[in-house]
Amino acid sequence: MIRFENVTKRYADGTTAVDDLSFEIAEGELVTLVGPSGCGKTTTMKMVNRLIEPTGGRIFIDGDDISAVDPVELRRRIGYVIQQVGLFPHKTVLDNTATVPHLLGVKRATARARAAELLDLVGLDPSVYGGRYPEQLSGGQRQRVGVARALAADPPVLLMDEPFGAVDPVVRERLQNEFLALQKSVRKTVLFVTHDIEEAVRLGDRIAVYGQGTIEQFDAPAAVLGAPATPYVADFVGADRGLKRLSVTPIEPGDLEQPPVVHLDDPLPATLPGWAVVLDREENLHGWISAAQAATAKGTVREHARRMEARLPVGASLKRAFATMLQYDAGWVAVIDEEGAGRFLGALTPARLHEALRRSTAADARDIARDEVELETVSGR
Ligand code: ADP
Ligand code: MG
Repeated sequence: MIRFENVTKRYADGTTAVDDLSFEIAEGELVTLVGPSGCGKTTTMKMVNRLIEPTGGRIFIDGDDISAVDPVELRRRIGYVIQQVGLFPHKTVLDNTATVPHLLGVKRATARARAAELLDLVGLDPSVYGGRYPEQLSGGQRQRVGVARALAADPPVLLMDEPFGAVDPVVRERLQNEFLALQKSVRKTVLFVTHDIEEAVRLGDRIAVYGQGTIEQFDAPAAVLGAPATPYVADFVGADRGLKRLSVTPIEPGDLEQPPVVHLDDPLPATLPGWAVVLDREENLHGWISAAQAATAKGTVREHARRMEARLPVGASLKRAFATMLQYDAGWVAVIDEEGAGRFLGALTPARLHEALRRSTAADARDIARDEVELETVSGR
């Protein structure tokens, strides 16, 4: 969808901002460009919509060499969101959002109806915010309008240059989550610039880690965190990359232990090795029961089972699993097939969590599936 071929940008003063860059982004992919200030991220981005012209190499969108495309025409296919949003102060939120379709000759009423839809999509009720002026919005709300405006002409490509950089961390996280949900439905091809590795990891399908005008590693977030390609990347992602990696590594069925299982209406079993998981008639998770209880009490499992609050759907991150264990002071997390009530799939213990992390790191380094990894030592038991 977007292809860089040996692209270089040397500014007039001799600064090489981008040095012989080649990479490709697939349609519908969200790629984050991350690196310290001055490493060439903005220059890279502005060459895509021809706000800056490369001094060498070529850039293709959908197979077209963009140097042959009229810049104004080109920018209609590309939404652009920046930190200083650049909303027109004298126009209402609705008119700001409708600007581009209006310029493209869409009838005013149609453009405004589409703008209202988009405001709704980014979480701003058009009947409340549509008539306001930019100065009457919070920073986070202005960024939402910026995103809505960029989407208004329904461009296949979105360029976002540190769009959430100026808002406080709590609002930033909310905007990130909203944007991820939005991207799931609109599936744009997105180049997202940030200097924040956490943001890059949370949002990117893949991450390009920049050195000085070059890409040091271009990989999935888990791979960048688990197997940094160079000492520079390892340093940039930080000493706590193991913790960050937890947040991008999902729980897989193969990670789970299969403890003994009893059902609510069963009589109490006489012997249990430690504890058992308690399921209802539909095989949904109810809770657990300890061997000590089962051995000393009388009646059915139902009368003595304890509820299990520490539960997560498969696919949730290992970080959520770890946090859930701490939250409920639980020695394991019950993994179910969907959020809330769900079919019991197995138990994730701390030892299995550790194994899962090591397996996924090794799998990424060797480019194989996680369950193909043989661990040298098995921790825990
Ligand atoms: P980033 O967005 O990663 O912070 P930039 O792409 O803005 O980095 O800048 C990359 C390098 O190019 C920096 O060293 C910067 O000082 C330099 N640079 C950016 N714009 C110009 C310009 N117009 N003239 C000269 N040097 C520039
Ligand atoms: Mg920049």
